[in-house]
Amino acid sequence: MHITSATNPRVKSLTTLATKKGRREQGQFLVEGLQALTFALQAGHKPHTLIHTPEESHPLLAPLQEAAGNTLTMPPHLLAKLTRRENPQTVLATFPTTTSSLEEIGKNPKAPILVLDRIRDPGNLGTIIRTADAAGLAHIVLVGDCTDAFAPETVRATMGSLFHLHLVHSTEDEFLSYLKNMPEAQIIGTHLNGKIPFFGVAENLTLKAPRFVLMGTEQAGLSEALTSACTHLTRIPMAGRLESLNLAIATALTLYEVQKPVLLSST
Ligand code: SAM
Repeated sequence: MHITSATNPRVKSLTTLATKKGRREQGQFLVEGLQALTFALQAGHKPHTLIHTPEESHPLLAPLQEAAGNTLTMPPHLLAKLTRRENPQTVLATFPTTTSSLEEIGKNPKAPILVLDRIRDPGNLGTIIRTADAAGLAHIVLVGDCTDAFAPETVRATMGSLFHLHLVHSTEDEFLSYLKNMPEAQIIGTHLNGKIPFFGVAENLTLKAPRFVLMGTEQAGLSEALTSACTHLTRIPMAGRLESLNLAIATALTLYEVQKPVLLSST
């Protein structure tokens, strides 16, 4: 179907996906660009609606057209309206906002689970999702009132890695009860008062039991309840006069340190 008018109801409903309310009501979110869409397809995620300019003819488009529930074509100025960008990508698609549950993580996850306490910044979350993918993680738990993982800024920053990980939403109480049923879990919290040496932290851990990496919120750090649940509290050394590192950077450093044995044996 080819659309030329901004007043078309399909355009109007796709435009609302830029808002949290629209994504919640429709259970869909928007992904921009052939590369991210191809990553999605390779990871087994089929687009609900594929949207592209009539002129688009890249070879990567055909498999997306085949997999999509339906396809719309529209001129660049309408793609710009959907993405709220002056120079939009020429291919977009919508996907369901799928999340997992704590139970689905299972009793014996192989990779560490990243736990983000009330993360607020969309760009930080996107960068963290991409970095968690690089470090070989499979699950991220978003605890409490977090920024929306399906917001356009976050999705863009993940560069397709959003499709490689399972996201779990949890309240703090739910997450703490879940941890209580896992007495063997190693819970590594990053905290400015941490005492466990940061470099070599993986040497204090066993790969046989579940490992959780807890990161605090941008303003206030890790909550007291989550801090108390940690079995290992570590502080990333800082030689300068700053108070703390940016959350995404601190997460990258910590995941690479915790995953060091695995990363050293990967190519
Ligand atoms: N004022 C906050 C506090 O008191 O924790 C700073 C929060 S910091 C911007 C956000 C999160 O990044 C922290 O909760 C922690 O998880 C991590 N982080 C940043 N710098 C860190 C460091 N030097 N050591 C350990 N964790 C750090």
